[in-house]
Amino acid sequence: MRIVLLGAPGSGKGTQSQRLVQKLGIPQISSGDLLRAALARGTPLGLQAKAAMDAGRLVDDSIVLGMIRERLSEPDARAGFILDGFPRNLAQAQALKEMLTSLGQPLDAVVQLEVDYRELVPRISGRRSCADCGRVCNVLTAAQACDPAEPCPKTGKPHRLVQRPDDNEATVTERLRVYDEQTRPLVEYYRSRGLLRSIDAQGDPDEVTRRLTAALSPARSLG
Ligand code: ADP
Repeated sequence: MRIVLLGAPGSGKGTQSQRLVQKLGIPQISSGDLLRAALARGTPLGLQAKAAMDAGRLVDDSIVLGMIRERLSEPDARAGFILDGFPRNLAQAQALKEMLTSLGQPLDAVVQLEVDYRELVPRISGRRSCADCGRVCNVLTAAQACDPAEPCPKTGKPHRLVQRPDDNEATVTERLRVYDEQTRPLVEYYRSRGLLRSIDAQGDPDEVTRRLTAALSPARSLG
């Protein structure tokens, strides 16, 4: 299956993508993760992207599209993929369509994760991840509470929780503004193409996974 998860920062795209990876056996392709990995490796493109990421703005389409094109051409993506955080504006959506058309692999579904705006800020500013195993938890919300007693599967010691530099409150406000202005129009774009399904992404993460799986099941039986 070829899926796009669409939703504001903090709507749970990353968490739900990882669960779909387990269920469907297809890779998660997260533009944010690709950009952070490029930055961590110190590549010229990663360094070029850093200023926009730190400010909560979108990174140039040319950089993001190059990374996505490369990632989609890797062998594991032939079985399908879950796009998380991409596309993020109309130009990216159009470029994706062209890429997938030329590969003969059109999208099966776009799922919009809907979360009340007021819930997004605590979800993002409370988000922490383990520097060793990458596990994500939240120090402000109950749904994915960080458990200090839980050992890290990589080190056997307590998780080393770190905050993403762009998860501070000032940058979060800008990311939400950019989402409204540039990414939200994709809801209509995909609705008019008959690909959009929307789910309530609030409440228990397991319940959200059930809604997501149900929303995908018509596309699954077709493809
Ligand atoms: P979130 O969805 O929680 O904002 P991401 O990890 O998807 O987090 O993205 C973090 C940052 O990386 C974004 O604020 C933006 O600067 C950059 N980024 C990620 N994906 C894209 C994209 N498709 N186009 C442009 N910039 C992107």
